[in-house]
Amino acid sequence: MSSTWTHTFNTPVFKGTVEVPTGLFINGKFVDGSTKQAIDVINPSTGQLITKISVGTLDDVNTAVKAAQHAFETTYGLAMRGSDRGLLLGKLAQLIEDNTDAIACVEALDNGKTFPFAKGDVQAVVACFRYYAGWADKIQGKTIETSEAQLVYTRHEPIGVVGQIIPWNFPILMLAWKLGPALATGNTVVLKPSEFTPLSALFVAKYIQEAGFPPGVVNIVNGYGNVVGQSIAEHMDIEKIAFTGSTLVGRKIMEAAAKSNLKNVTLELGGKSPNVIFDDCNLDDAVKWAAFGIFFNHGQVCCAGSRIFVHEKIYDEFLHRFTEYTRNVKVGDPFDPDNFQGPQVSQVQYERIMGYIKTGQEEGATLHHGGERIGSEGYFIQPTIFTDVKPHMRIVREEIFGPVGVVAKFRDEDDIIAQANDTLYGLAAAVFTRDIVKAVRTANRLKAGTVWVNCVNHLHTAVPFGGYKQSGIGRELGEYALANYTHVKAVQINVDMQL
Ligand code: NAD
Repeated sequence: MSSTWTHTFNTPVFKGTVEVPTGLFINGKFVDGSTKQAIDVINPSTGQLITKISVGTLDDVNTAVKAAQHAFETTYGLAMRGSDRGLLLGKLAQLIEDNTDAIACVEALDNGKTFPFAKGDVQAVVACFRYYAGWADKIQGKTIETSEAQLVYTRHEPIGVVGQIIPWNFPILMLAWKLGPALATGNTVVLKPSEFTPLSALFVAKYIQEAGFPPGVVNIVNGYGNVVGQSIAEHMDIEKIAFTGSTLVGRKIMEAAAKSNLKNVTLELGGKSPNVIFDDCNLDDAVKWAAFGIFFNHGQVCCAGSRIFVHEKIYDEFLHRFTEYTRNVKVGDPFDPDNFQGPQVSQVQYERIMGYIKTGQEEGATLHHGGERIGSEGYFIQPTIFTDVKPHMRIVREEIFGPVGVVAKFRDEDDIIAQANDTLYGLAAAVFTRDIVKAVRTANRLKAGTVWVNCVNHLHTAVPFGGYKQSGIGRELGEYALANYTHVKAVQINVDMQL
C-alpha cells in the first residue's frame, strides 16, 4: 500500500505536524500506481526534494474511471438526493476549514506562494464548497408552455464521469473550482493535479474520504500531463473534460476530445490582460493595484495585469511611483509573514521567465527595473518592469507567467481600446478612472470575460470567470458553472394521446 509524507512545520506562522498520503486516490482508497513509480516533489524555495508521490498511468486512469462509473450508477449521480450531496460538500468544507493553516502550509511549501496568500486560497476553497453545497438541491429544469395538449419539462441531469485537469499556480483553489460544481450536480470525477504541485490535492483527498463521499465519487490520479492527462482527455468513458492550464495544452485537450468520443470540453486558459490607467484615476491606488495585478502570486496568475497602459499625461508620474512601489515589494521565504512574493514554482518556470527577460532586452525594450535572480538557491526573481515596448514584441504578446510587467502609453479611449484588445487572449482587463461613464463605456468595449474597475484580481465564488478568444471556452464559478456539468433533457408528454 502507498505511504504517507509526514512533516513537522516549525514556522512563524504555523507549528505542527501534517500527514499527507502520497498514493493515488482511487475508489476511496490511497493506492500505489500500477507501475509503482514515483514523481519527485520539489520545494521551489530551495530546489530540494520534499517527498515522492505515486505516479499514474493509463491503467490507473482506467481503474479510476471504472470506480467513478460504478459510483455514478449506484451511490451518487441520480442515486443520491441533492440535499445529501449538499451535506457532503458542506462537511468537506468544514473539514478543510478546521485544517486551514496546515493545508496552507503544505501549499506554501509545495507551490512557493507566501503563507497568507496560501491561507487566502484555502479560505476561498471553503467558500467555494459551501457555495456549491447550497446549489446541490437546487438543480432544476423548467416547464415549457407549448400547447394545452402537451406537458413539456426539462431535467438538468448529471453528465456522468467527468475528467478534470488542473495547473500548479492555484493548486487547491483550482481543485475546488472544478470539484464544487461537478459534485453539486451529481457527477463523479477523475481529477489530475499538476505534477509540480500534487500535495494539497492529496491532503484534501483525506478529507473527501473523511466527509463520507462514497468510494469512487472523487478519484485523484497524479502523474504527467502527456500520460495521465492525455489518457483522461482521450478516454472513451469520460463524457466531459474540464481543463485549466496553458492555451497550448488546451488545444491538445480539444484535439483529444475530438478524436475520441467528442466529449464536452470546457477550457480555462492563459491571458495577457490589459490594465488601463486613465489620467483622472486616483494615482496612488492605481499604482498599488497595478503592482498587485502583476506581482500577486509571483505573476503566475492567468488574469495577471501584465500589460499596463497609462494615459500619456500621467505616464511619467505613474512610472516613477510604480517603480518606487515595486522596489519595496518583498521577495523571499514564503513562511516569513513580511514577504509578498515567494519563488517561482519550478526550475522550468524560472528558466522560462528569465528567457523572456532576455528576449525583451534583445527586442529593444528597456529593462526599467529588476530582471535578476535573487539568491543562489530556489527560484526567486525580482519584480520586473519593462518600458519602451512595441506591440509586436514577444514580451507584449506572450504570457510570461512571472513577475514581469510591461508599461506603455496611450492617447485616448479609441487608442487604448485598440491596444488593449490587440491580443489573442481575452481573460480579464482592468480600468482605473473616477469617471463612471468612462468606466462603463470602456468596460463594454474591452474583449474580456472579466473587467475590473478600480481593482484587479477580484474573484468571488458566485461570479463567473472565463475567457474570450484563446483564453478559453465556458465559464467557471457561480451559477454559470453548473451548466458545464449537466445535460438538459426535454421530456414531451402528449397529454390527450392524439397523433
Ligand atoms: P499546463 O498547460 O502546462 O498544464 C496544466 C495541466 O495540464 C497540468 O496538470 C499538466 O500536467 C496537464 N497536461 C500537460 N500536458 C497535457 C496533455 N498533453 N494532455 C493532458 N493534460 C496535460 O499549464 P501550467 O503550466 O500547469 O499552468 C499555467 C497555465 O495555466 C497558464 O497558461 C495559465 O494562464 C493557465 N491558467 C488559467 C486559469 C484560468 O482560469 N483561465 C487559471 C489558472 C491557470
